[in-house]
Amino acid sequence: MRQPLVAGNWKMNGSLKANEALLGDLRKALSGGIKAEVAVCPPFVYLPQVAGLIDGQPMALGAQDLSDQDAGAFTGEVSGTMLKDLGCEYVIVGHSERRSLYGEGDEFTARKFAAARRHGLKPILCVGELLEERESGVTEQVVARQLDAVMDLEGVSALADAVIAYEPVWAIGTGKTASPEQAQAVHAFIRARVAERDAQVAEGLRILYGGSVKADNAAELFSQPDIDGGLIGGASLKADDFMAICRAA
Ligand code: 13P
Repeated sequence: MRQPLVAGNWKMNGSLKANEALLGDLRKALSGGIKAEVAVCPPFVYLPQVAGLIDGQPMALGAQDLSDQDAGAFTGEVSGTMLKDLGCEYVIVGHSERRSLYGEGDEFTARKFAAARRHGLKPILCVGELLEERESGVTEQVVARQLDAVMDLEGVSALADAVIAYEPVWAIGTGKTASPEQAQAVHAFIRARVAERDAQVAEGLRILYGGSVKADNAAELFSQPDIDGGLIGGASLKADDFMAICRAA
């Protein structure tokens, strides 16, 4: 049985004051208990603050990115060692905003994935197609390429402790969610692709959906057999919305 995971990707949002208010509300809401595992991924600079605010709470800490390098002359970079040092358990790798806005490709993303594992962090590997790729019918080829880059570099066993997030790029921040059937089809494809290399790893692998998940569409998405929770952007910044999504998982 896979425990669902709902992770909030705050992206470049938040402030000391806003984070305190948001986490205070989440803490209250979570005190009643919840089936899903919940994680929050604030910007790097707020990790120490958030680590303190969620201490002893049923919430895990994640970062949004990491360097492929471990230490040294890499101005502006943040290593996996540092994230581990601050108490991170998860790190998002290969988010489509990294891929498209900062030109990070499949091989580079795979090296970041490897760096996360070297430091005992659980990577949340994002995959997903652009609108034109979906329209030209190459969704599966794109997702397979993104996934294979990691499995080729690290081996399928590297996915045993990892999480995949399927985030169709056309659904991110657009208000256009993939239908539950569209999402399920890609999730099943991902699981089958991993199963070709190792059926047991595939069975235990948590595959999250991300892209305009809201309080009112989460339950239907999460009820699909291969959708094991969500990676939530905009709605993770509002305590009520995020909690409603967490409860739906
Ligand atoms: P939205 O939920 O704002 O569409 O963002 C999804 C996402 O990119 C999460 O990583």
